[in-house]
Amino acid sequence: MTTVAFLGLGAIGTPMARHLATPDFTLAVWNRTAKKAADFAATHHVRHAATPADAARGASVVVTCFPTSREVAALLDGPDGLIAGMTKGTTLLDCTSGDPATSRQIEARLAEHGIGYLDAPVSGGVAGAEIGTLTVMIGGSEAVMASVMPVLEAFGEKIVHCGPVGSGGALKAVNNALLAVHIWSTAEGMAALAKAGVNPAVALDVINASSGRSNTTQNLFPARVLTRAFPRTFRLALLDKDVGIAAQVMREQKVPSPLIQLTAELFAAAHRELGEEADHVEAVKVVERQAGVEIK
Ligand code: NDP
Repeated sequence: MTTVAFLGLGAIGTPMARHLATPDFTLAVWNRTAKKAADFAATHHVRHAATPADAARGASVVVTCFPTSREVAALLDGPDGLIAGMTKGTTLLDCTSGDPATSRQIEARLAEHGIGYLDAPVSGGVAGAEIGTLTVMIGGSEAVMASVMPVLEAFGEKIVHCGPVGSGGALKAVNNALLAVHIWSTAEGMAALAKAGVNPAVALDVINASSGRSNTTQNLFPARVLTRAFPRTFRLALLDKDVGIAAQVMREQKVPSPLIQLTAELFAAAHRELGEEADHVEAVKVVERQAGVEIK
């Protein structure tokens, strides 16, 4: 039986952790807002740890799922930090959609203690996390990845080794930058069509039978924009962070990337306008406000 610690019971961390609250694992959970971890522990009959160090004690795999790499790095040190609880030969499996540079710093810091590190961001959304069908993008040693496979398979369906530490985060950021481009460009196109007198449902029906279609036109706009439901599943703040990472990766790699750099600016502005709790699809509302039309 694998002993696992899970830290970060947010929108996606919570359903991921549920797949580890089974007889195959001995699980301890920790969350900054302790009540969430206490409720999870009571519901699933697992251990509620008082500190990150307490959660990590005895665990062969520690899973983290925080907004950014900064929060992961901040939990490493001190008497309550992860390093105090982890032992040589154990692994930190970081499912945060992080930034490659900080992931490499965390890897180096943990290596001083003989602790393994994988950056392992996920895609598939909260719905994919609920049913255990996430895609997991791994950066780091393939041998370390093999050693944590039972944990990865608990919440992941497609588990892909991408390269050295940081490559999972780089791939995740580029994927999400494409999502951001699709959301913003679809909003612009649909706003113009609505003003030109085309029913948005008709426009989507045609686009979805044509070459301009994407997950955004096939799923997000019909279910979330036209209905005005805008459910909060993935915060705009996090998509802004991801596009910013992608823009940074492109600058580091010296790839001319005017479209991604502009998208990063647009999402940063939308994040400032709509705040911390807005969902990523609510960026459409900024385009609507500027255009003076609602897409419905
Ligand atoms: P949430 O904002 O819902 O949750 C974030 C978690 O991090 C919470 O447990 C929160 O604790 C904790 N946290 C935030 N700041 C700190 C801090 N300073 N110190 C300690 N804990 C902190 O995020 P998600 O669960 O949506 O996302 C987590 C990661 O997964 C992100 O990197 C995101 O980009 C990625 N992701 C999310 C997807 C989604 O659909 N939601 C899809 C794919 C990837 P508290 O409860 O106290 O606030």
